[in-house]
Order: sequence, then structure tokens, then C-alpha cells
Amino acid sequence: MSLEIGTNWAGNLAFGAQRIVAPTTAREVQDVLADAASTGARVRAVGSRHSFNTIADTPGVLLATSALDSAPVIDEAARTVTVGAGIRYGELGAELQRAGWALSNLASLPHISVAGAIATGTHGSGNRVPSLAAAVAGLELVTASGDIVTLRRGDADFDAAVVSLGALGIVTRVTLDIEPTFDVAQHVYERLPLERVLENFDAISGAGYSVSMFTTWRDPDTVDQVWVKRRVDADAAAPTDMFGALPASVARHPLPGISAEFCTAQLGAPGAWIDRLPHFRLDFTPSNGDELQTEYLVPRTRIGDALEVMRAMHERVAPLLQVNEIRTVPADDLWLSPAYGHDVVGLHLTWLPAQADVEVLLAELEERLLPLGARPHWGKLFAADSAALHAAYPKLADFRGVAERYDPNSMFRNDFVRRVFGA
Ligand SMILES: Cc1cc2nc3c(=O)[nH]c(=O)nc-3n(C[C@H](O)[C@H](O)[C@H](O)COP(=O)(O)OP(=O)(O)OC[C@H]3O[C@@H](n4cnc5c(N)ncnc54)[C@H](O)[C@@H]3O)c2cc1C
Repeated sequence: MSLEIGTNWAGNLAFGAQRIVAPTTAREVQDVLADAASTGARVRAVGSRHSFNTIADTPGVLLATSALDSAPVIDEAARTVTVGAGIRYGELGAELQRAGWALSNLASLPHISVAGAIATGTHGSGNRVPSLAAAVAGLELVTASGDIVTLRRGDADFDAAVVSLGALGIVTRVTLDIEPTFDVAQHVYERLPLERVLENFDAISGAGYSVSMFTTWRDPDTVDQVWVKRRVDADAAAPTDMFGALPASVARHPLPGISAEFCTAQLGAPGAWIDRLPHFRLDFTPSNGDELQTEYLVPRTRIGDALEVMRAMHERVAPLLQVNEIRTVPADDLWLSPAYGHDVVGLHLTWLPAQADVEVLLAELEERLLPLGARPHWGKLFAADSAALHAAYPKLADFRGVAERYDPNSMFRNDFVRRVFGA
């Protein structure tokens, strides 16, 4: 990545930093932070820039993680891999696959960095496959004082430190759980009646290892596509009829009318986890996105109500929407994880790049979804204020206490974190 301050991936944010640095080691990170401490400068880490809001922005020093030494170290006995924080899942996945190992889950795009993804609670889909953050077994971070702190699962502060919004320090290395490699076969089904989804949500979301439903809400009574990713070694054969939806006869893109050439292989062709769990291929380099994203993680028990909200609002939503992806994420213990404490269903919304109009609509959507217990995704656009976020994320006040302990002089505090904390 070039060392320009530049913009985020979507291009809807020009970073306001005065300068950008790209340290290669924890020692160099310490030097950057010591320099910032002596001048009172603020610092934020930036990964692959795939967040849609100001979460990674700073008026001070942008610390790019892309040059951090990233070579994966596999511990076969512990079933973990330790990597540099800036590595992208695609590169890590290719290394793991070569060595006969796998991660249990991936996001839709393999181009995002590991530390950036876990800092925002990024997830894939699967009734029994937790978020990418929940796969973290340990991490090393450099704090504002220049100390190198190592936290492992079970340590005090670990559950606060994984989904950190970048507010505790600069993560330099991450240890992730791994398992032996496995193959996945992907099938797409088309035109699933919404009534069948409401009646059979558990069966449909459990039809494979990882299931995503995609819909544009142009037809409020039909979910356009269901993508079912089956583990070849464990899951039952793909059904020929998915509650009224039929298998696609050709490969599909989630958006209607767009070529599937950049999508991972479908039509049941088995392949390695790294080539099937993301929706988009590793060798496809996405240009700056002509899109914006929002996501609300709704308690699984309220998904019927949340889908009724979307159906009721479809005339407002559809004109600005490219596609709504519906995914399941099981509960975890990470304080700021959208799946903290209970199973959730993600209503992910890919919008047209019309931010002012989208923001008006977000306020309307949140009026209806937040009372259901929906939690906004930290890396995407949302309207909620601090009071609403504290209601949605019950450990937010405790997290603030940890952030104040790790960063007493607010080196890593930016406007986004201030807005979230309420001060
Ligand atoms: C096309 C696309 C597809 C996406 N698909 C999914 C999906 O399937 N599921 C999902 O849940 N989300 C998805 N997202 C959202 C994305 O995963 C998050 O925005 C994620 O944070 C991006 O990682 P990044 O490396 O780009 O982080 P950045 O946007 O660069 O940074 C995000 C946050 O992480 C912090 N951070 C980064 N590195 C470090 C570090 N080393 N130490 C401390 N803090 C750090 C930053 O300070 C910032 O607060 C998608 C986004 C896009 C653009």
C-alpha cells in the first residue's frame, strides 16, 4: 500500500491525518508512540481501510499496519497461527491452506486486514461459526506508554481488548485458532418466499456450514438468493428444493444482473475453505467501492420482527439499496462484539453511494430496529448516538474504563471514539 494519507476504500472519507507512518516492527511502533507522546500528537492504526465511517481517522498520525512483519507462525500442537496485525485474510488463508490448515470463518471479502477486522467485530455467517474476532486466541499490543502487552484468552482485559475500536493501543501480532483444512461446496438457490423464511429461519440458516440470504427488497415478499456453503466432510447433501427456492442453474452474483466471474465457485463444485467461504475471489482486486455499507446485528430471537420492519419499509429502502445480506453469528464473550452475550442475525445493507440520503434513512431504520436490540456494526455507517450505543452494547461503559486505564492521555481517542463514549 502506498504511503499516502488518502481515503478509505469506499472513498467517502478523506483521512484528516497530518502524517502517515508504516513501522515494520513493534520496536518501531514504540518509537512512533514515544514521539507522539512527546508532542501530544494523536495516533490511530489503519488496516486495509475498508471501514465506511471515521473509526480509523485522526487529526494526528495515521499508523499503517501494512508493513508490519507478517510471516505466519503455525503452532500445530496448540492449533493456532500467529501473524503480523496488518496481514490480510486472503494472504494468511493461502499460507494456511498450503500448510494443511484453515480458519473456521471468513468475511465476504478476503482483502481486509486481520487486526482491522477484529477491532470492529467483523464476522462471516454460520449458526455455529462465530465471528472472526472470536477466533482470536491472543494478541500483542503496544500501549500509549510504549509497553508491549500480551493478552491471551482467559486473561483479565482479553474480552475487552479484542474488539477494541483501536482505542487501547496498536496491535502488532494476533494469534488465531486454526483447524485442519476442509473443503466446501457452494450452492445458490433463487426466489425464496419471505413467509418461508419467517416460518423456517432456523432450518434455512442451518442448511449448511455457512448460509447467506441476499435480497434487494424490490419484491417485498421474496428473498432473491440463498447461498449455502456446505462442509464436504460433515454436512448433509444439498437439498434440491429450499422451502420453495430452486437451485440456480448458472453461477450468480449477489446483485441481480451482474456477472459472477469474480464470485467464488458455485454449482456444488467442492474446493478449499479459502476459495469458498468468501463470496468474492482472492485474485479479484476490488477497485474503490461504489457503495456504502451499514449493518444491524439483531438478537436472533427478534429476526422475524426485524424482517417485518424491512418489509414494511421496503419502498423507502429499495431505491437506495444495492443488496441486503442476512447472516447468522453465534454468541461470544467479547465486550464490544455485536454478538456479545447472545446469538445475532446480521442485516447487512449495501447502499448506493448517496451518503446524505442513506443517513436520513438510517435514522428511520434505527427508530424501528434499535428497540429490537439491534447493534450497529462498528465499521459501517450508523446514526446511533452514545446513549443508544450504551443501550445496545451493555459493556460499553466498562470498556471505556479499560480504555482510560490503557490510554490515560487519550492518545488513541478520535472523534469516532468520543462520539461512541459520549465525551
Ligand atoms: C467490500 C467490503 C466487504 C466487507 N465484508 C464484511 C463482512 O463480510 N463482514 C463484516 O462483519 N464486515 C465486513 N466489512 C467491514 C470490514 O470488515 C470492517 O470495516 C473492518 O474493520 C475492515 O478491516 P480494515 O483492516 O480495513 O480496518 P480499517 O478500516 O483500516 O480500521 C478499522 C478499525 O481497526 C483499527 N485497527 C486496524 N488495525 C489495527 C491495529 N493493528 N491495532 C489497533 N487497531 C487497529 C483502526 O484503528 C480502526 O479503528 C466489509 C467491508 C467492505 C468494504
